[in-house]
Amino acid sequence: MKLVFEKGMNLSEVEVIRHYTWLSRRNFGVDLGFYPLGSCTMKYNPKVNEEMAKLEGFSLIHPLQPESTVQGALQLMFELEKMLCEICGFERFSLQPAAGAHGELTGMMIIQAYFKKKGEKRTKILVPDSAHGTNPASVSMCGFEAVEVKSDSEGNIDLDDLKKKMEKDVAGIMSTNPNTLGLFDSNIEQVCEIVHGKGGLVYGDGANMNAMLGICRPKELGIDVMHLNLHKTFSTPHGGGGPGGGPLGVVKKLVEFLPGPLVEKEKEKYKFGEVGGSSVGKVRSFYGNFGVMVKAFTYLKAIGAPGCREVAEIAVLNANYLKEKLKGHFKLPFDRVCQHEFVLSDEGLPNGVTTNDVAKRLIDYGFHPPTVYFPLIVKGAIMIEPTETESKETLDRFAEAMIKIRKEAEENPEIVRGAPHSMPVKRLDAVKAAREPDLRWRKH
Ligand SMILES: *Cc1c(COP(=O)(O)O)cnc(C)c1O
Repeated sequence: MKLVFEKGMNLSEVEVIRHYTWLSRRNFGVDLGFYPLGSCTMKYNPKVNEEMAKLEGFSLIHPLQPESTVQGALQLMFELEKMLCEICGFERFSLQPAAGAHGELTGMMIIQAYFKKKGEKRTKILVPDSAHGTNPASVSMCGFEAVEVKSDSEGNIDLDDLKKKMEKDVAGIMSTNPNTLGLFDSNIEQVCEIVHGKGGLVYGDGANMNAMLGICRPKELGIDVMHLNLHKTFSTPHGGGGPGGGPLGVVKKLVEFLPGPLVEKEKEKYKFGEVGGSSVGKVRSFYGNFGVMVKAFTYLKAIGAPGCREVAEIAVLNANYLKEKLKGHFKLPFDRVCQHEFVLSDEGLPNGVTTNDVAKRLIDYGFHPPTVYFPLIVKGAIMIEPTETESKETLDRFAEAMIKIRKEAEENPEIVRGAPHSMPVKRLDAVKAAREPDLRWRKH
């Protein structure tokens, strides 16, 4: 990233303040409006989380302080881990990974270490064709070969294809459930059986845990190792590069491989445990993003166990409500009860109007666009995740905007194809904007 200051530039405080305030007003966040970005769980993050993370006892401590002076912080990590174990059914969680993809990579390292210790040479990991892009990336980064498994006509993992590909050199599968189509993979137990039957391990991508909270434990489905996204399901903010949290949970036989140290409780005192020889080592400096842990802990304490279940129920209800409102107007390739999100297609939209056009037009109506062109197995995918924190009125307004855009596509396609009309800029070269951001200071 390049910050360009012009030669001889001399700015006063008020000029700098105005510049950044101006920039912030051109931004969009969940505090400003509906943000149905599928797979990202852009739920509202209660402000009490921030208040707790600001407490001096949490914000002014240092990881090198003696354990006896940070007992409260250690207790918080210990109890957060226990709650995550309770939610998922796992034996232990490492809170170290800093993001979902980081959790995936750590999980792959653990799978590798497990087979190395067993003396088995397994070089491949199966990845369904509906997977999030980070899945094959984590697999390859760890030195495994990613082998694609097909989805069947229902959007589940294709069991015949899985049986064919689950060979002796396959270390396991990376599965996402609910998958990125927003569907609960009703084959999941058979998937785990097939993989376990050949000695493999099942990795669960738990970024989309929002729909399962308090309803279903991944361990009981047969999953061996899984990350969660604190910055999705557990209401810590995400975007802007983080910081995030991607804690990694494992079944008993994999605990020895977790990154260390873990917090242990001994005679009413909390301390960091020993790191054994099988551990994959540290994956993050010190113990992970502690402020994020405080926020996730606060959230869980505030909603409690019954609240967890309610979160999932309303998230699923909201997604199904929107799906039913929209399915007569846009193509819905998998017409099943969905979980936290659903995927529409731009197939059949009139006058050459595409998913990108619909997304840009939504901006004019005051909505953040949904996730687009992902998952790849749906043509022109529009992936909508409303989350549980939105009211029926907001969902109705969004549905109304989508239906209006559909009508515009028929009657006035130029207005959709030329959108957005309400923004300081039109369509950016997104790749160039990310690679070469122009952050030059301008007078406003
Ligand atoms: C968000 C997401 C990830 C990656 O999480 P990051 O924190 O962005 O690294 C992985 N898988 C799925 C399904 C996701 O939605």
